[in-house]
Amino acid sequence: MNLNDAIQECWSKIDEGQVATYIPALAKVDPYQLGVYLFDITNDKKVEAGASQVRFAIESVSKVITLLYAIERLGLSAVEEQVGTRQTGFPFDTILNMEITKETHPLNAFINSGAILISSLIEEQDGLSPFDQILEFSRKICNDPDITLNEEIYQSELRTGDMNRSLAYYLKAKGVLTNDVTLSLDTYFKQCSMMVTCQSLANLGAVLANDGIAPWNNERIISSEAATYTKSVMMTTGLYNESGTYSVKIGVPTKSGVGGGLVSAAPNHYGIGIFSPALDHAGNSVAGLALLELISKKLKLDIFRY
Ligand code: GLN
Repeated sequence: MNLNDAIQECWSKIDEGQVATYIPALAKVDPYQLGVYLFDITNDKKVEAGASQVRFAIESVSKVITLLYAIERLGLSAVEEQVGTRQTGFPFDTILNMEITKETHPLNAFINSGAILISSLIEEQDGLSPFDQILEFSRKICNDPDITLNEEIYQSELRTGDMNRSLAYYLKAKGVLTNDVTLSLDTYFKQCSMMVTCQSLANLGAVLANDGIAPWNNERIISSEAATYTKSVMMTTGLYNESGTYSVKIGVPTKSGVGGGLVSAAPNHYGIGIFSPALDHAGNSVAGLALLELISKKLKLDIFRY
């Protein structure tokens, strides 16, 4: 398939979305960008088009990396005790679901409450702060040594992060978040401010698609169990309250971020990274999802299709 044609076909979708404005540094990003990087793990072929090498804020796609790192460090059952695997039916930063459902623990690892709780589980090790460990792990699993923290985005997250603070203190008040709240929030804000490209995300997707083994050097980076669990959670909650819609339309485990990034893992086949900053009402890249749908149909990637 010709990726440049696919980008042309999805370009007009950009006008249906808006860049994230609640984080001022993200509001300045040019919405007219669309990029894709495909990594075919069956033959080691890589193809890319459009803004595939532009750096952008990883935002909620970082929740995949931190979840994997927490599973590696603490084990899956310890993580499963902290967060569920259910959809909320509410936006990603809501506090409502915890009050209404009377669940003590966040419903899943990809809403903000769940992600902050997961970040809080990572403790300092060998003199490395939780964020330094996450950064190091991100560079490894994305095969991208150039991932760094964007100070302007981090400061912007700090200034506008009161809803995330509310979620963290709520979890603390309920006795669920037991480590240092300020440090946990700082780790979360920093992980969201890492800068990646479509290529970095395609590499992350390729590790997940390849059962936890890095296709570029055959090193096992995460356990098979961690890869399987995370792909399931991506499929069921990766696109927030629109996850069901896209599970039917696209059928590939995917996680979005409000920076406009998407990471997808088509099991045993492709790692995919997409970037386009204009978002739909749920916070997912509009043109990015249109492009992913096209790619999934053309390459027959829907995991539920016969
Ligand atoms: N930093 C953002 C927030 O916490 C991440 C949200 C997202 O990408 N969906 O609100």
